[in-house]
Amino acid sequence: RGRATLSVIVRAYGEGMRLVLSQDVTERERAEAMRRDFVANVSHEIRTPLTVLSGFIETMSSLPLTEAERKRVLHLMTQQTQRMQTLVSDLLTLAQLEGSPRPAPDHWVALDALLARVVADATALSAGKHFVAAAPETGMELAGVEAELFSAVANLASNAVRYTPEGGQIELCWRELADGCGEITVADTGPGIAKEHLPRLTERFYRVDGSRSRDTGGTGLGLSIVKHVAQRHGGELQIQSELGKGSRFRIVLPAVRLRHAGQAALGIEA
Ligand code: ADP
Repeated sequence: RGRATLSVIVRAYGEGMRLVLSQDVTERERAEAMRRDFVANVSHEIRTPLTVLSGFIETMSSLPLTEAERKRVLHLMTQQTQRMQTLVSDLLTLAQLEGSPRPAPDHWVALDALLARVVADATALSAGKHFVAAAPETGMELAGVEAELFSAVANLASNAVRYTPEGGQIELCWRELADGCGEITVADTGPGIAKEHLPRLTERFYRVDGSRSRDTGGTGLGLSIVKHVAQRHGGELQIQSELGKGSRFRIVLPAVRLRHAGQAALGIEA
């Protein structure tokens, strides 16, 4: 009797179970396709500089070069090596962010100092080509991991410097919103990004202009890292951009992770 009941149940739920099973398979296939894409992308990103490097090694070993030519080739080889180092370092950062639990909100990061460091780095990177404006001090602190937050804001600032043509303006600011949330903004007067690209910008290796990105040392992983850091701190990355006008990247953070310096911690959930 028990078996008969079971077969009725299986018949009744059969369709539903098949649906759940097929959804599960589709999900697995999608994850597998993403993994394959990722491996293909990483291989391509590593193979290109390696090919260039082996070409230079061949040149150096088979051709008599003048001292000036030798210096030039060594400079180009250094660039390709640095490109691979940055790629590996970004890949490790992403793997660490994806593999570790959300940071415990037990450390308060002084936002003014953090932004000041990013502004100093962006100013150096820009080498006088842009006007880099900083936010006025607010005395706010944010609960989180300082190294992660720094890397997120620094990534946005480095993008702004790399994509904004000479003479442009880059603004880094921090403010408290009316609902108590906070936002860190990095805005530029650069080329802007067409609407159709916006939803895909935070995908790993997604680039609007591949050669511009690579020429300026980009790995295609920066915004993916920023998105992860924002989410791990309970927030999100928002992107607004208009072609020909510029872009505005905002890391919006929840009120529970913010306090005025010295104020007692608010009730934060891990
Ligand atoms: P990348 O290393 O290529 O800069 P990111 O993940 O940081 O990778 O950015 C993804 C793409 O988004 C870039 O390749 C570029 O096309 C576009 N992008 C990012 N920031 C800006 C910006 N400030 N202005 C214009 N385009 C940008």
